[in-house]
Amino acid sequence: MDDCLFCKIARKEIPAGIVWEDDAFVAFKDIHPKARVHVLLIPKEHVESIVHATSADSAMLGQLMLHVADVAHAVGLQERGFKTVINTGKEGGQEVPHLHLHILGGGQ
Ligand code: AMP
Ligand code: ZN
Repeated sequence: MDDCLFCKIARKEIPAGIVWEDDAFVAFKDIHPKARVHVLLIPKEHVESIVHATSADSAMLGQLMLHVADVAHAVGLQERGFKTVINTGKEGGQEVPHLHLHILGGGQ
């Protein structure tokens, strides 16, 4: 998606505080943190939201969940614990239409 904010971050066209990355996912600091540690984990592939995912995305969704531990480890939250949130759609508070998982921790 040419004009998608998070696709641009994934392509490194917009700078972000990247904390963890592999071929298919990237995690970066939320620009308006709502906890002491607040990062977003996204697939580099554009999927608008969790309800736009199909059975073709099942491997990606499994990897997304597994990489939560990698990101938590990278930001020092794995032992302490943290909250994960996925907002979906207008009434779910989703502002950016590219699937992303919030990881919040370090004290609220
Ligand atoms: P949501 O409301 O679930 O769509 O979450 C979108 C999140 O993206 C919000 O917490 C924003 O603060 C965050 N955000 C928006 N623009 C950027 C950006 N350029 N870099 C990092 N985080 C951003
Ligand atoms: Zn996108």
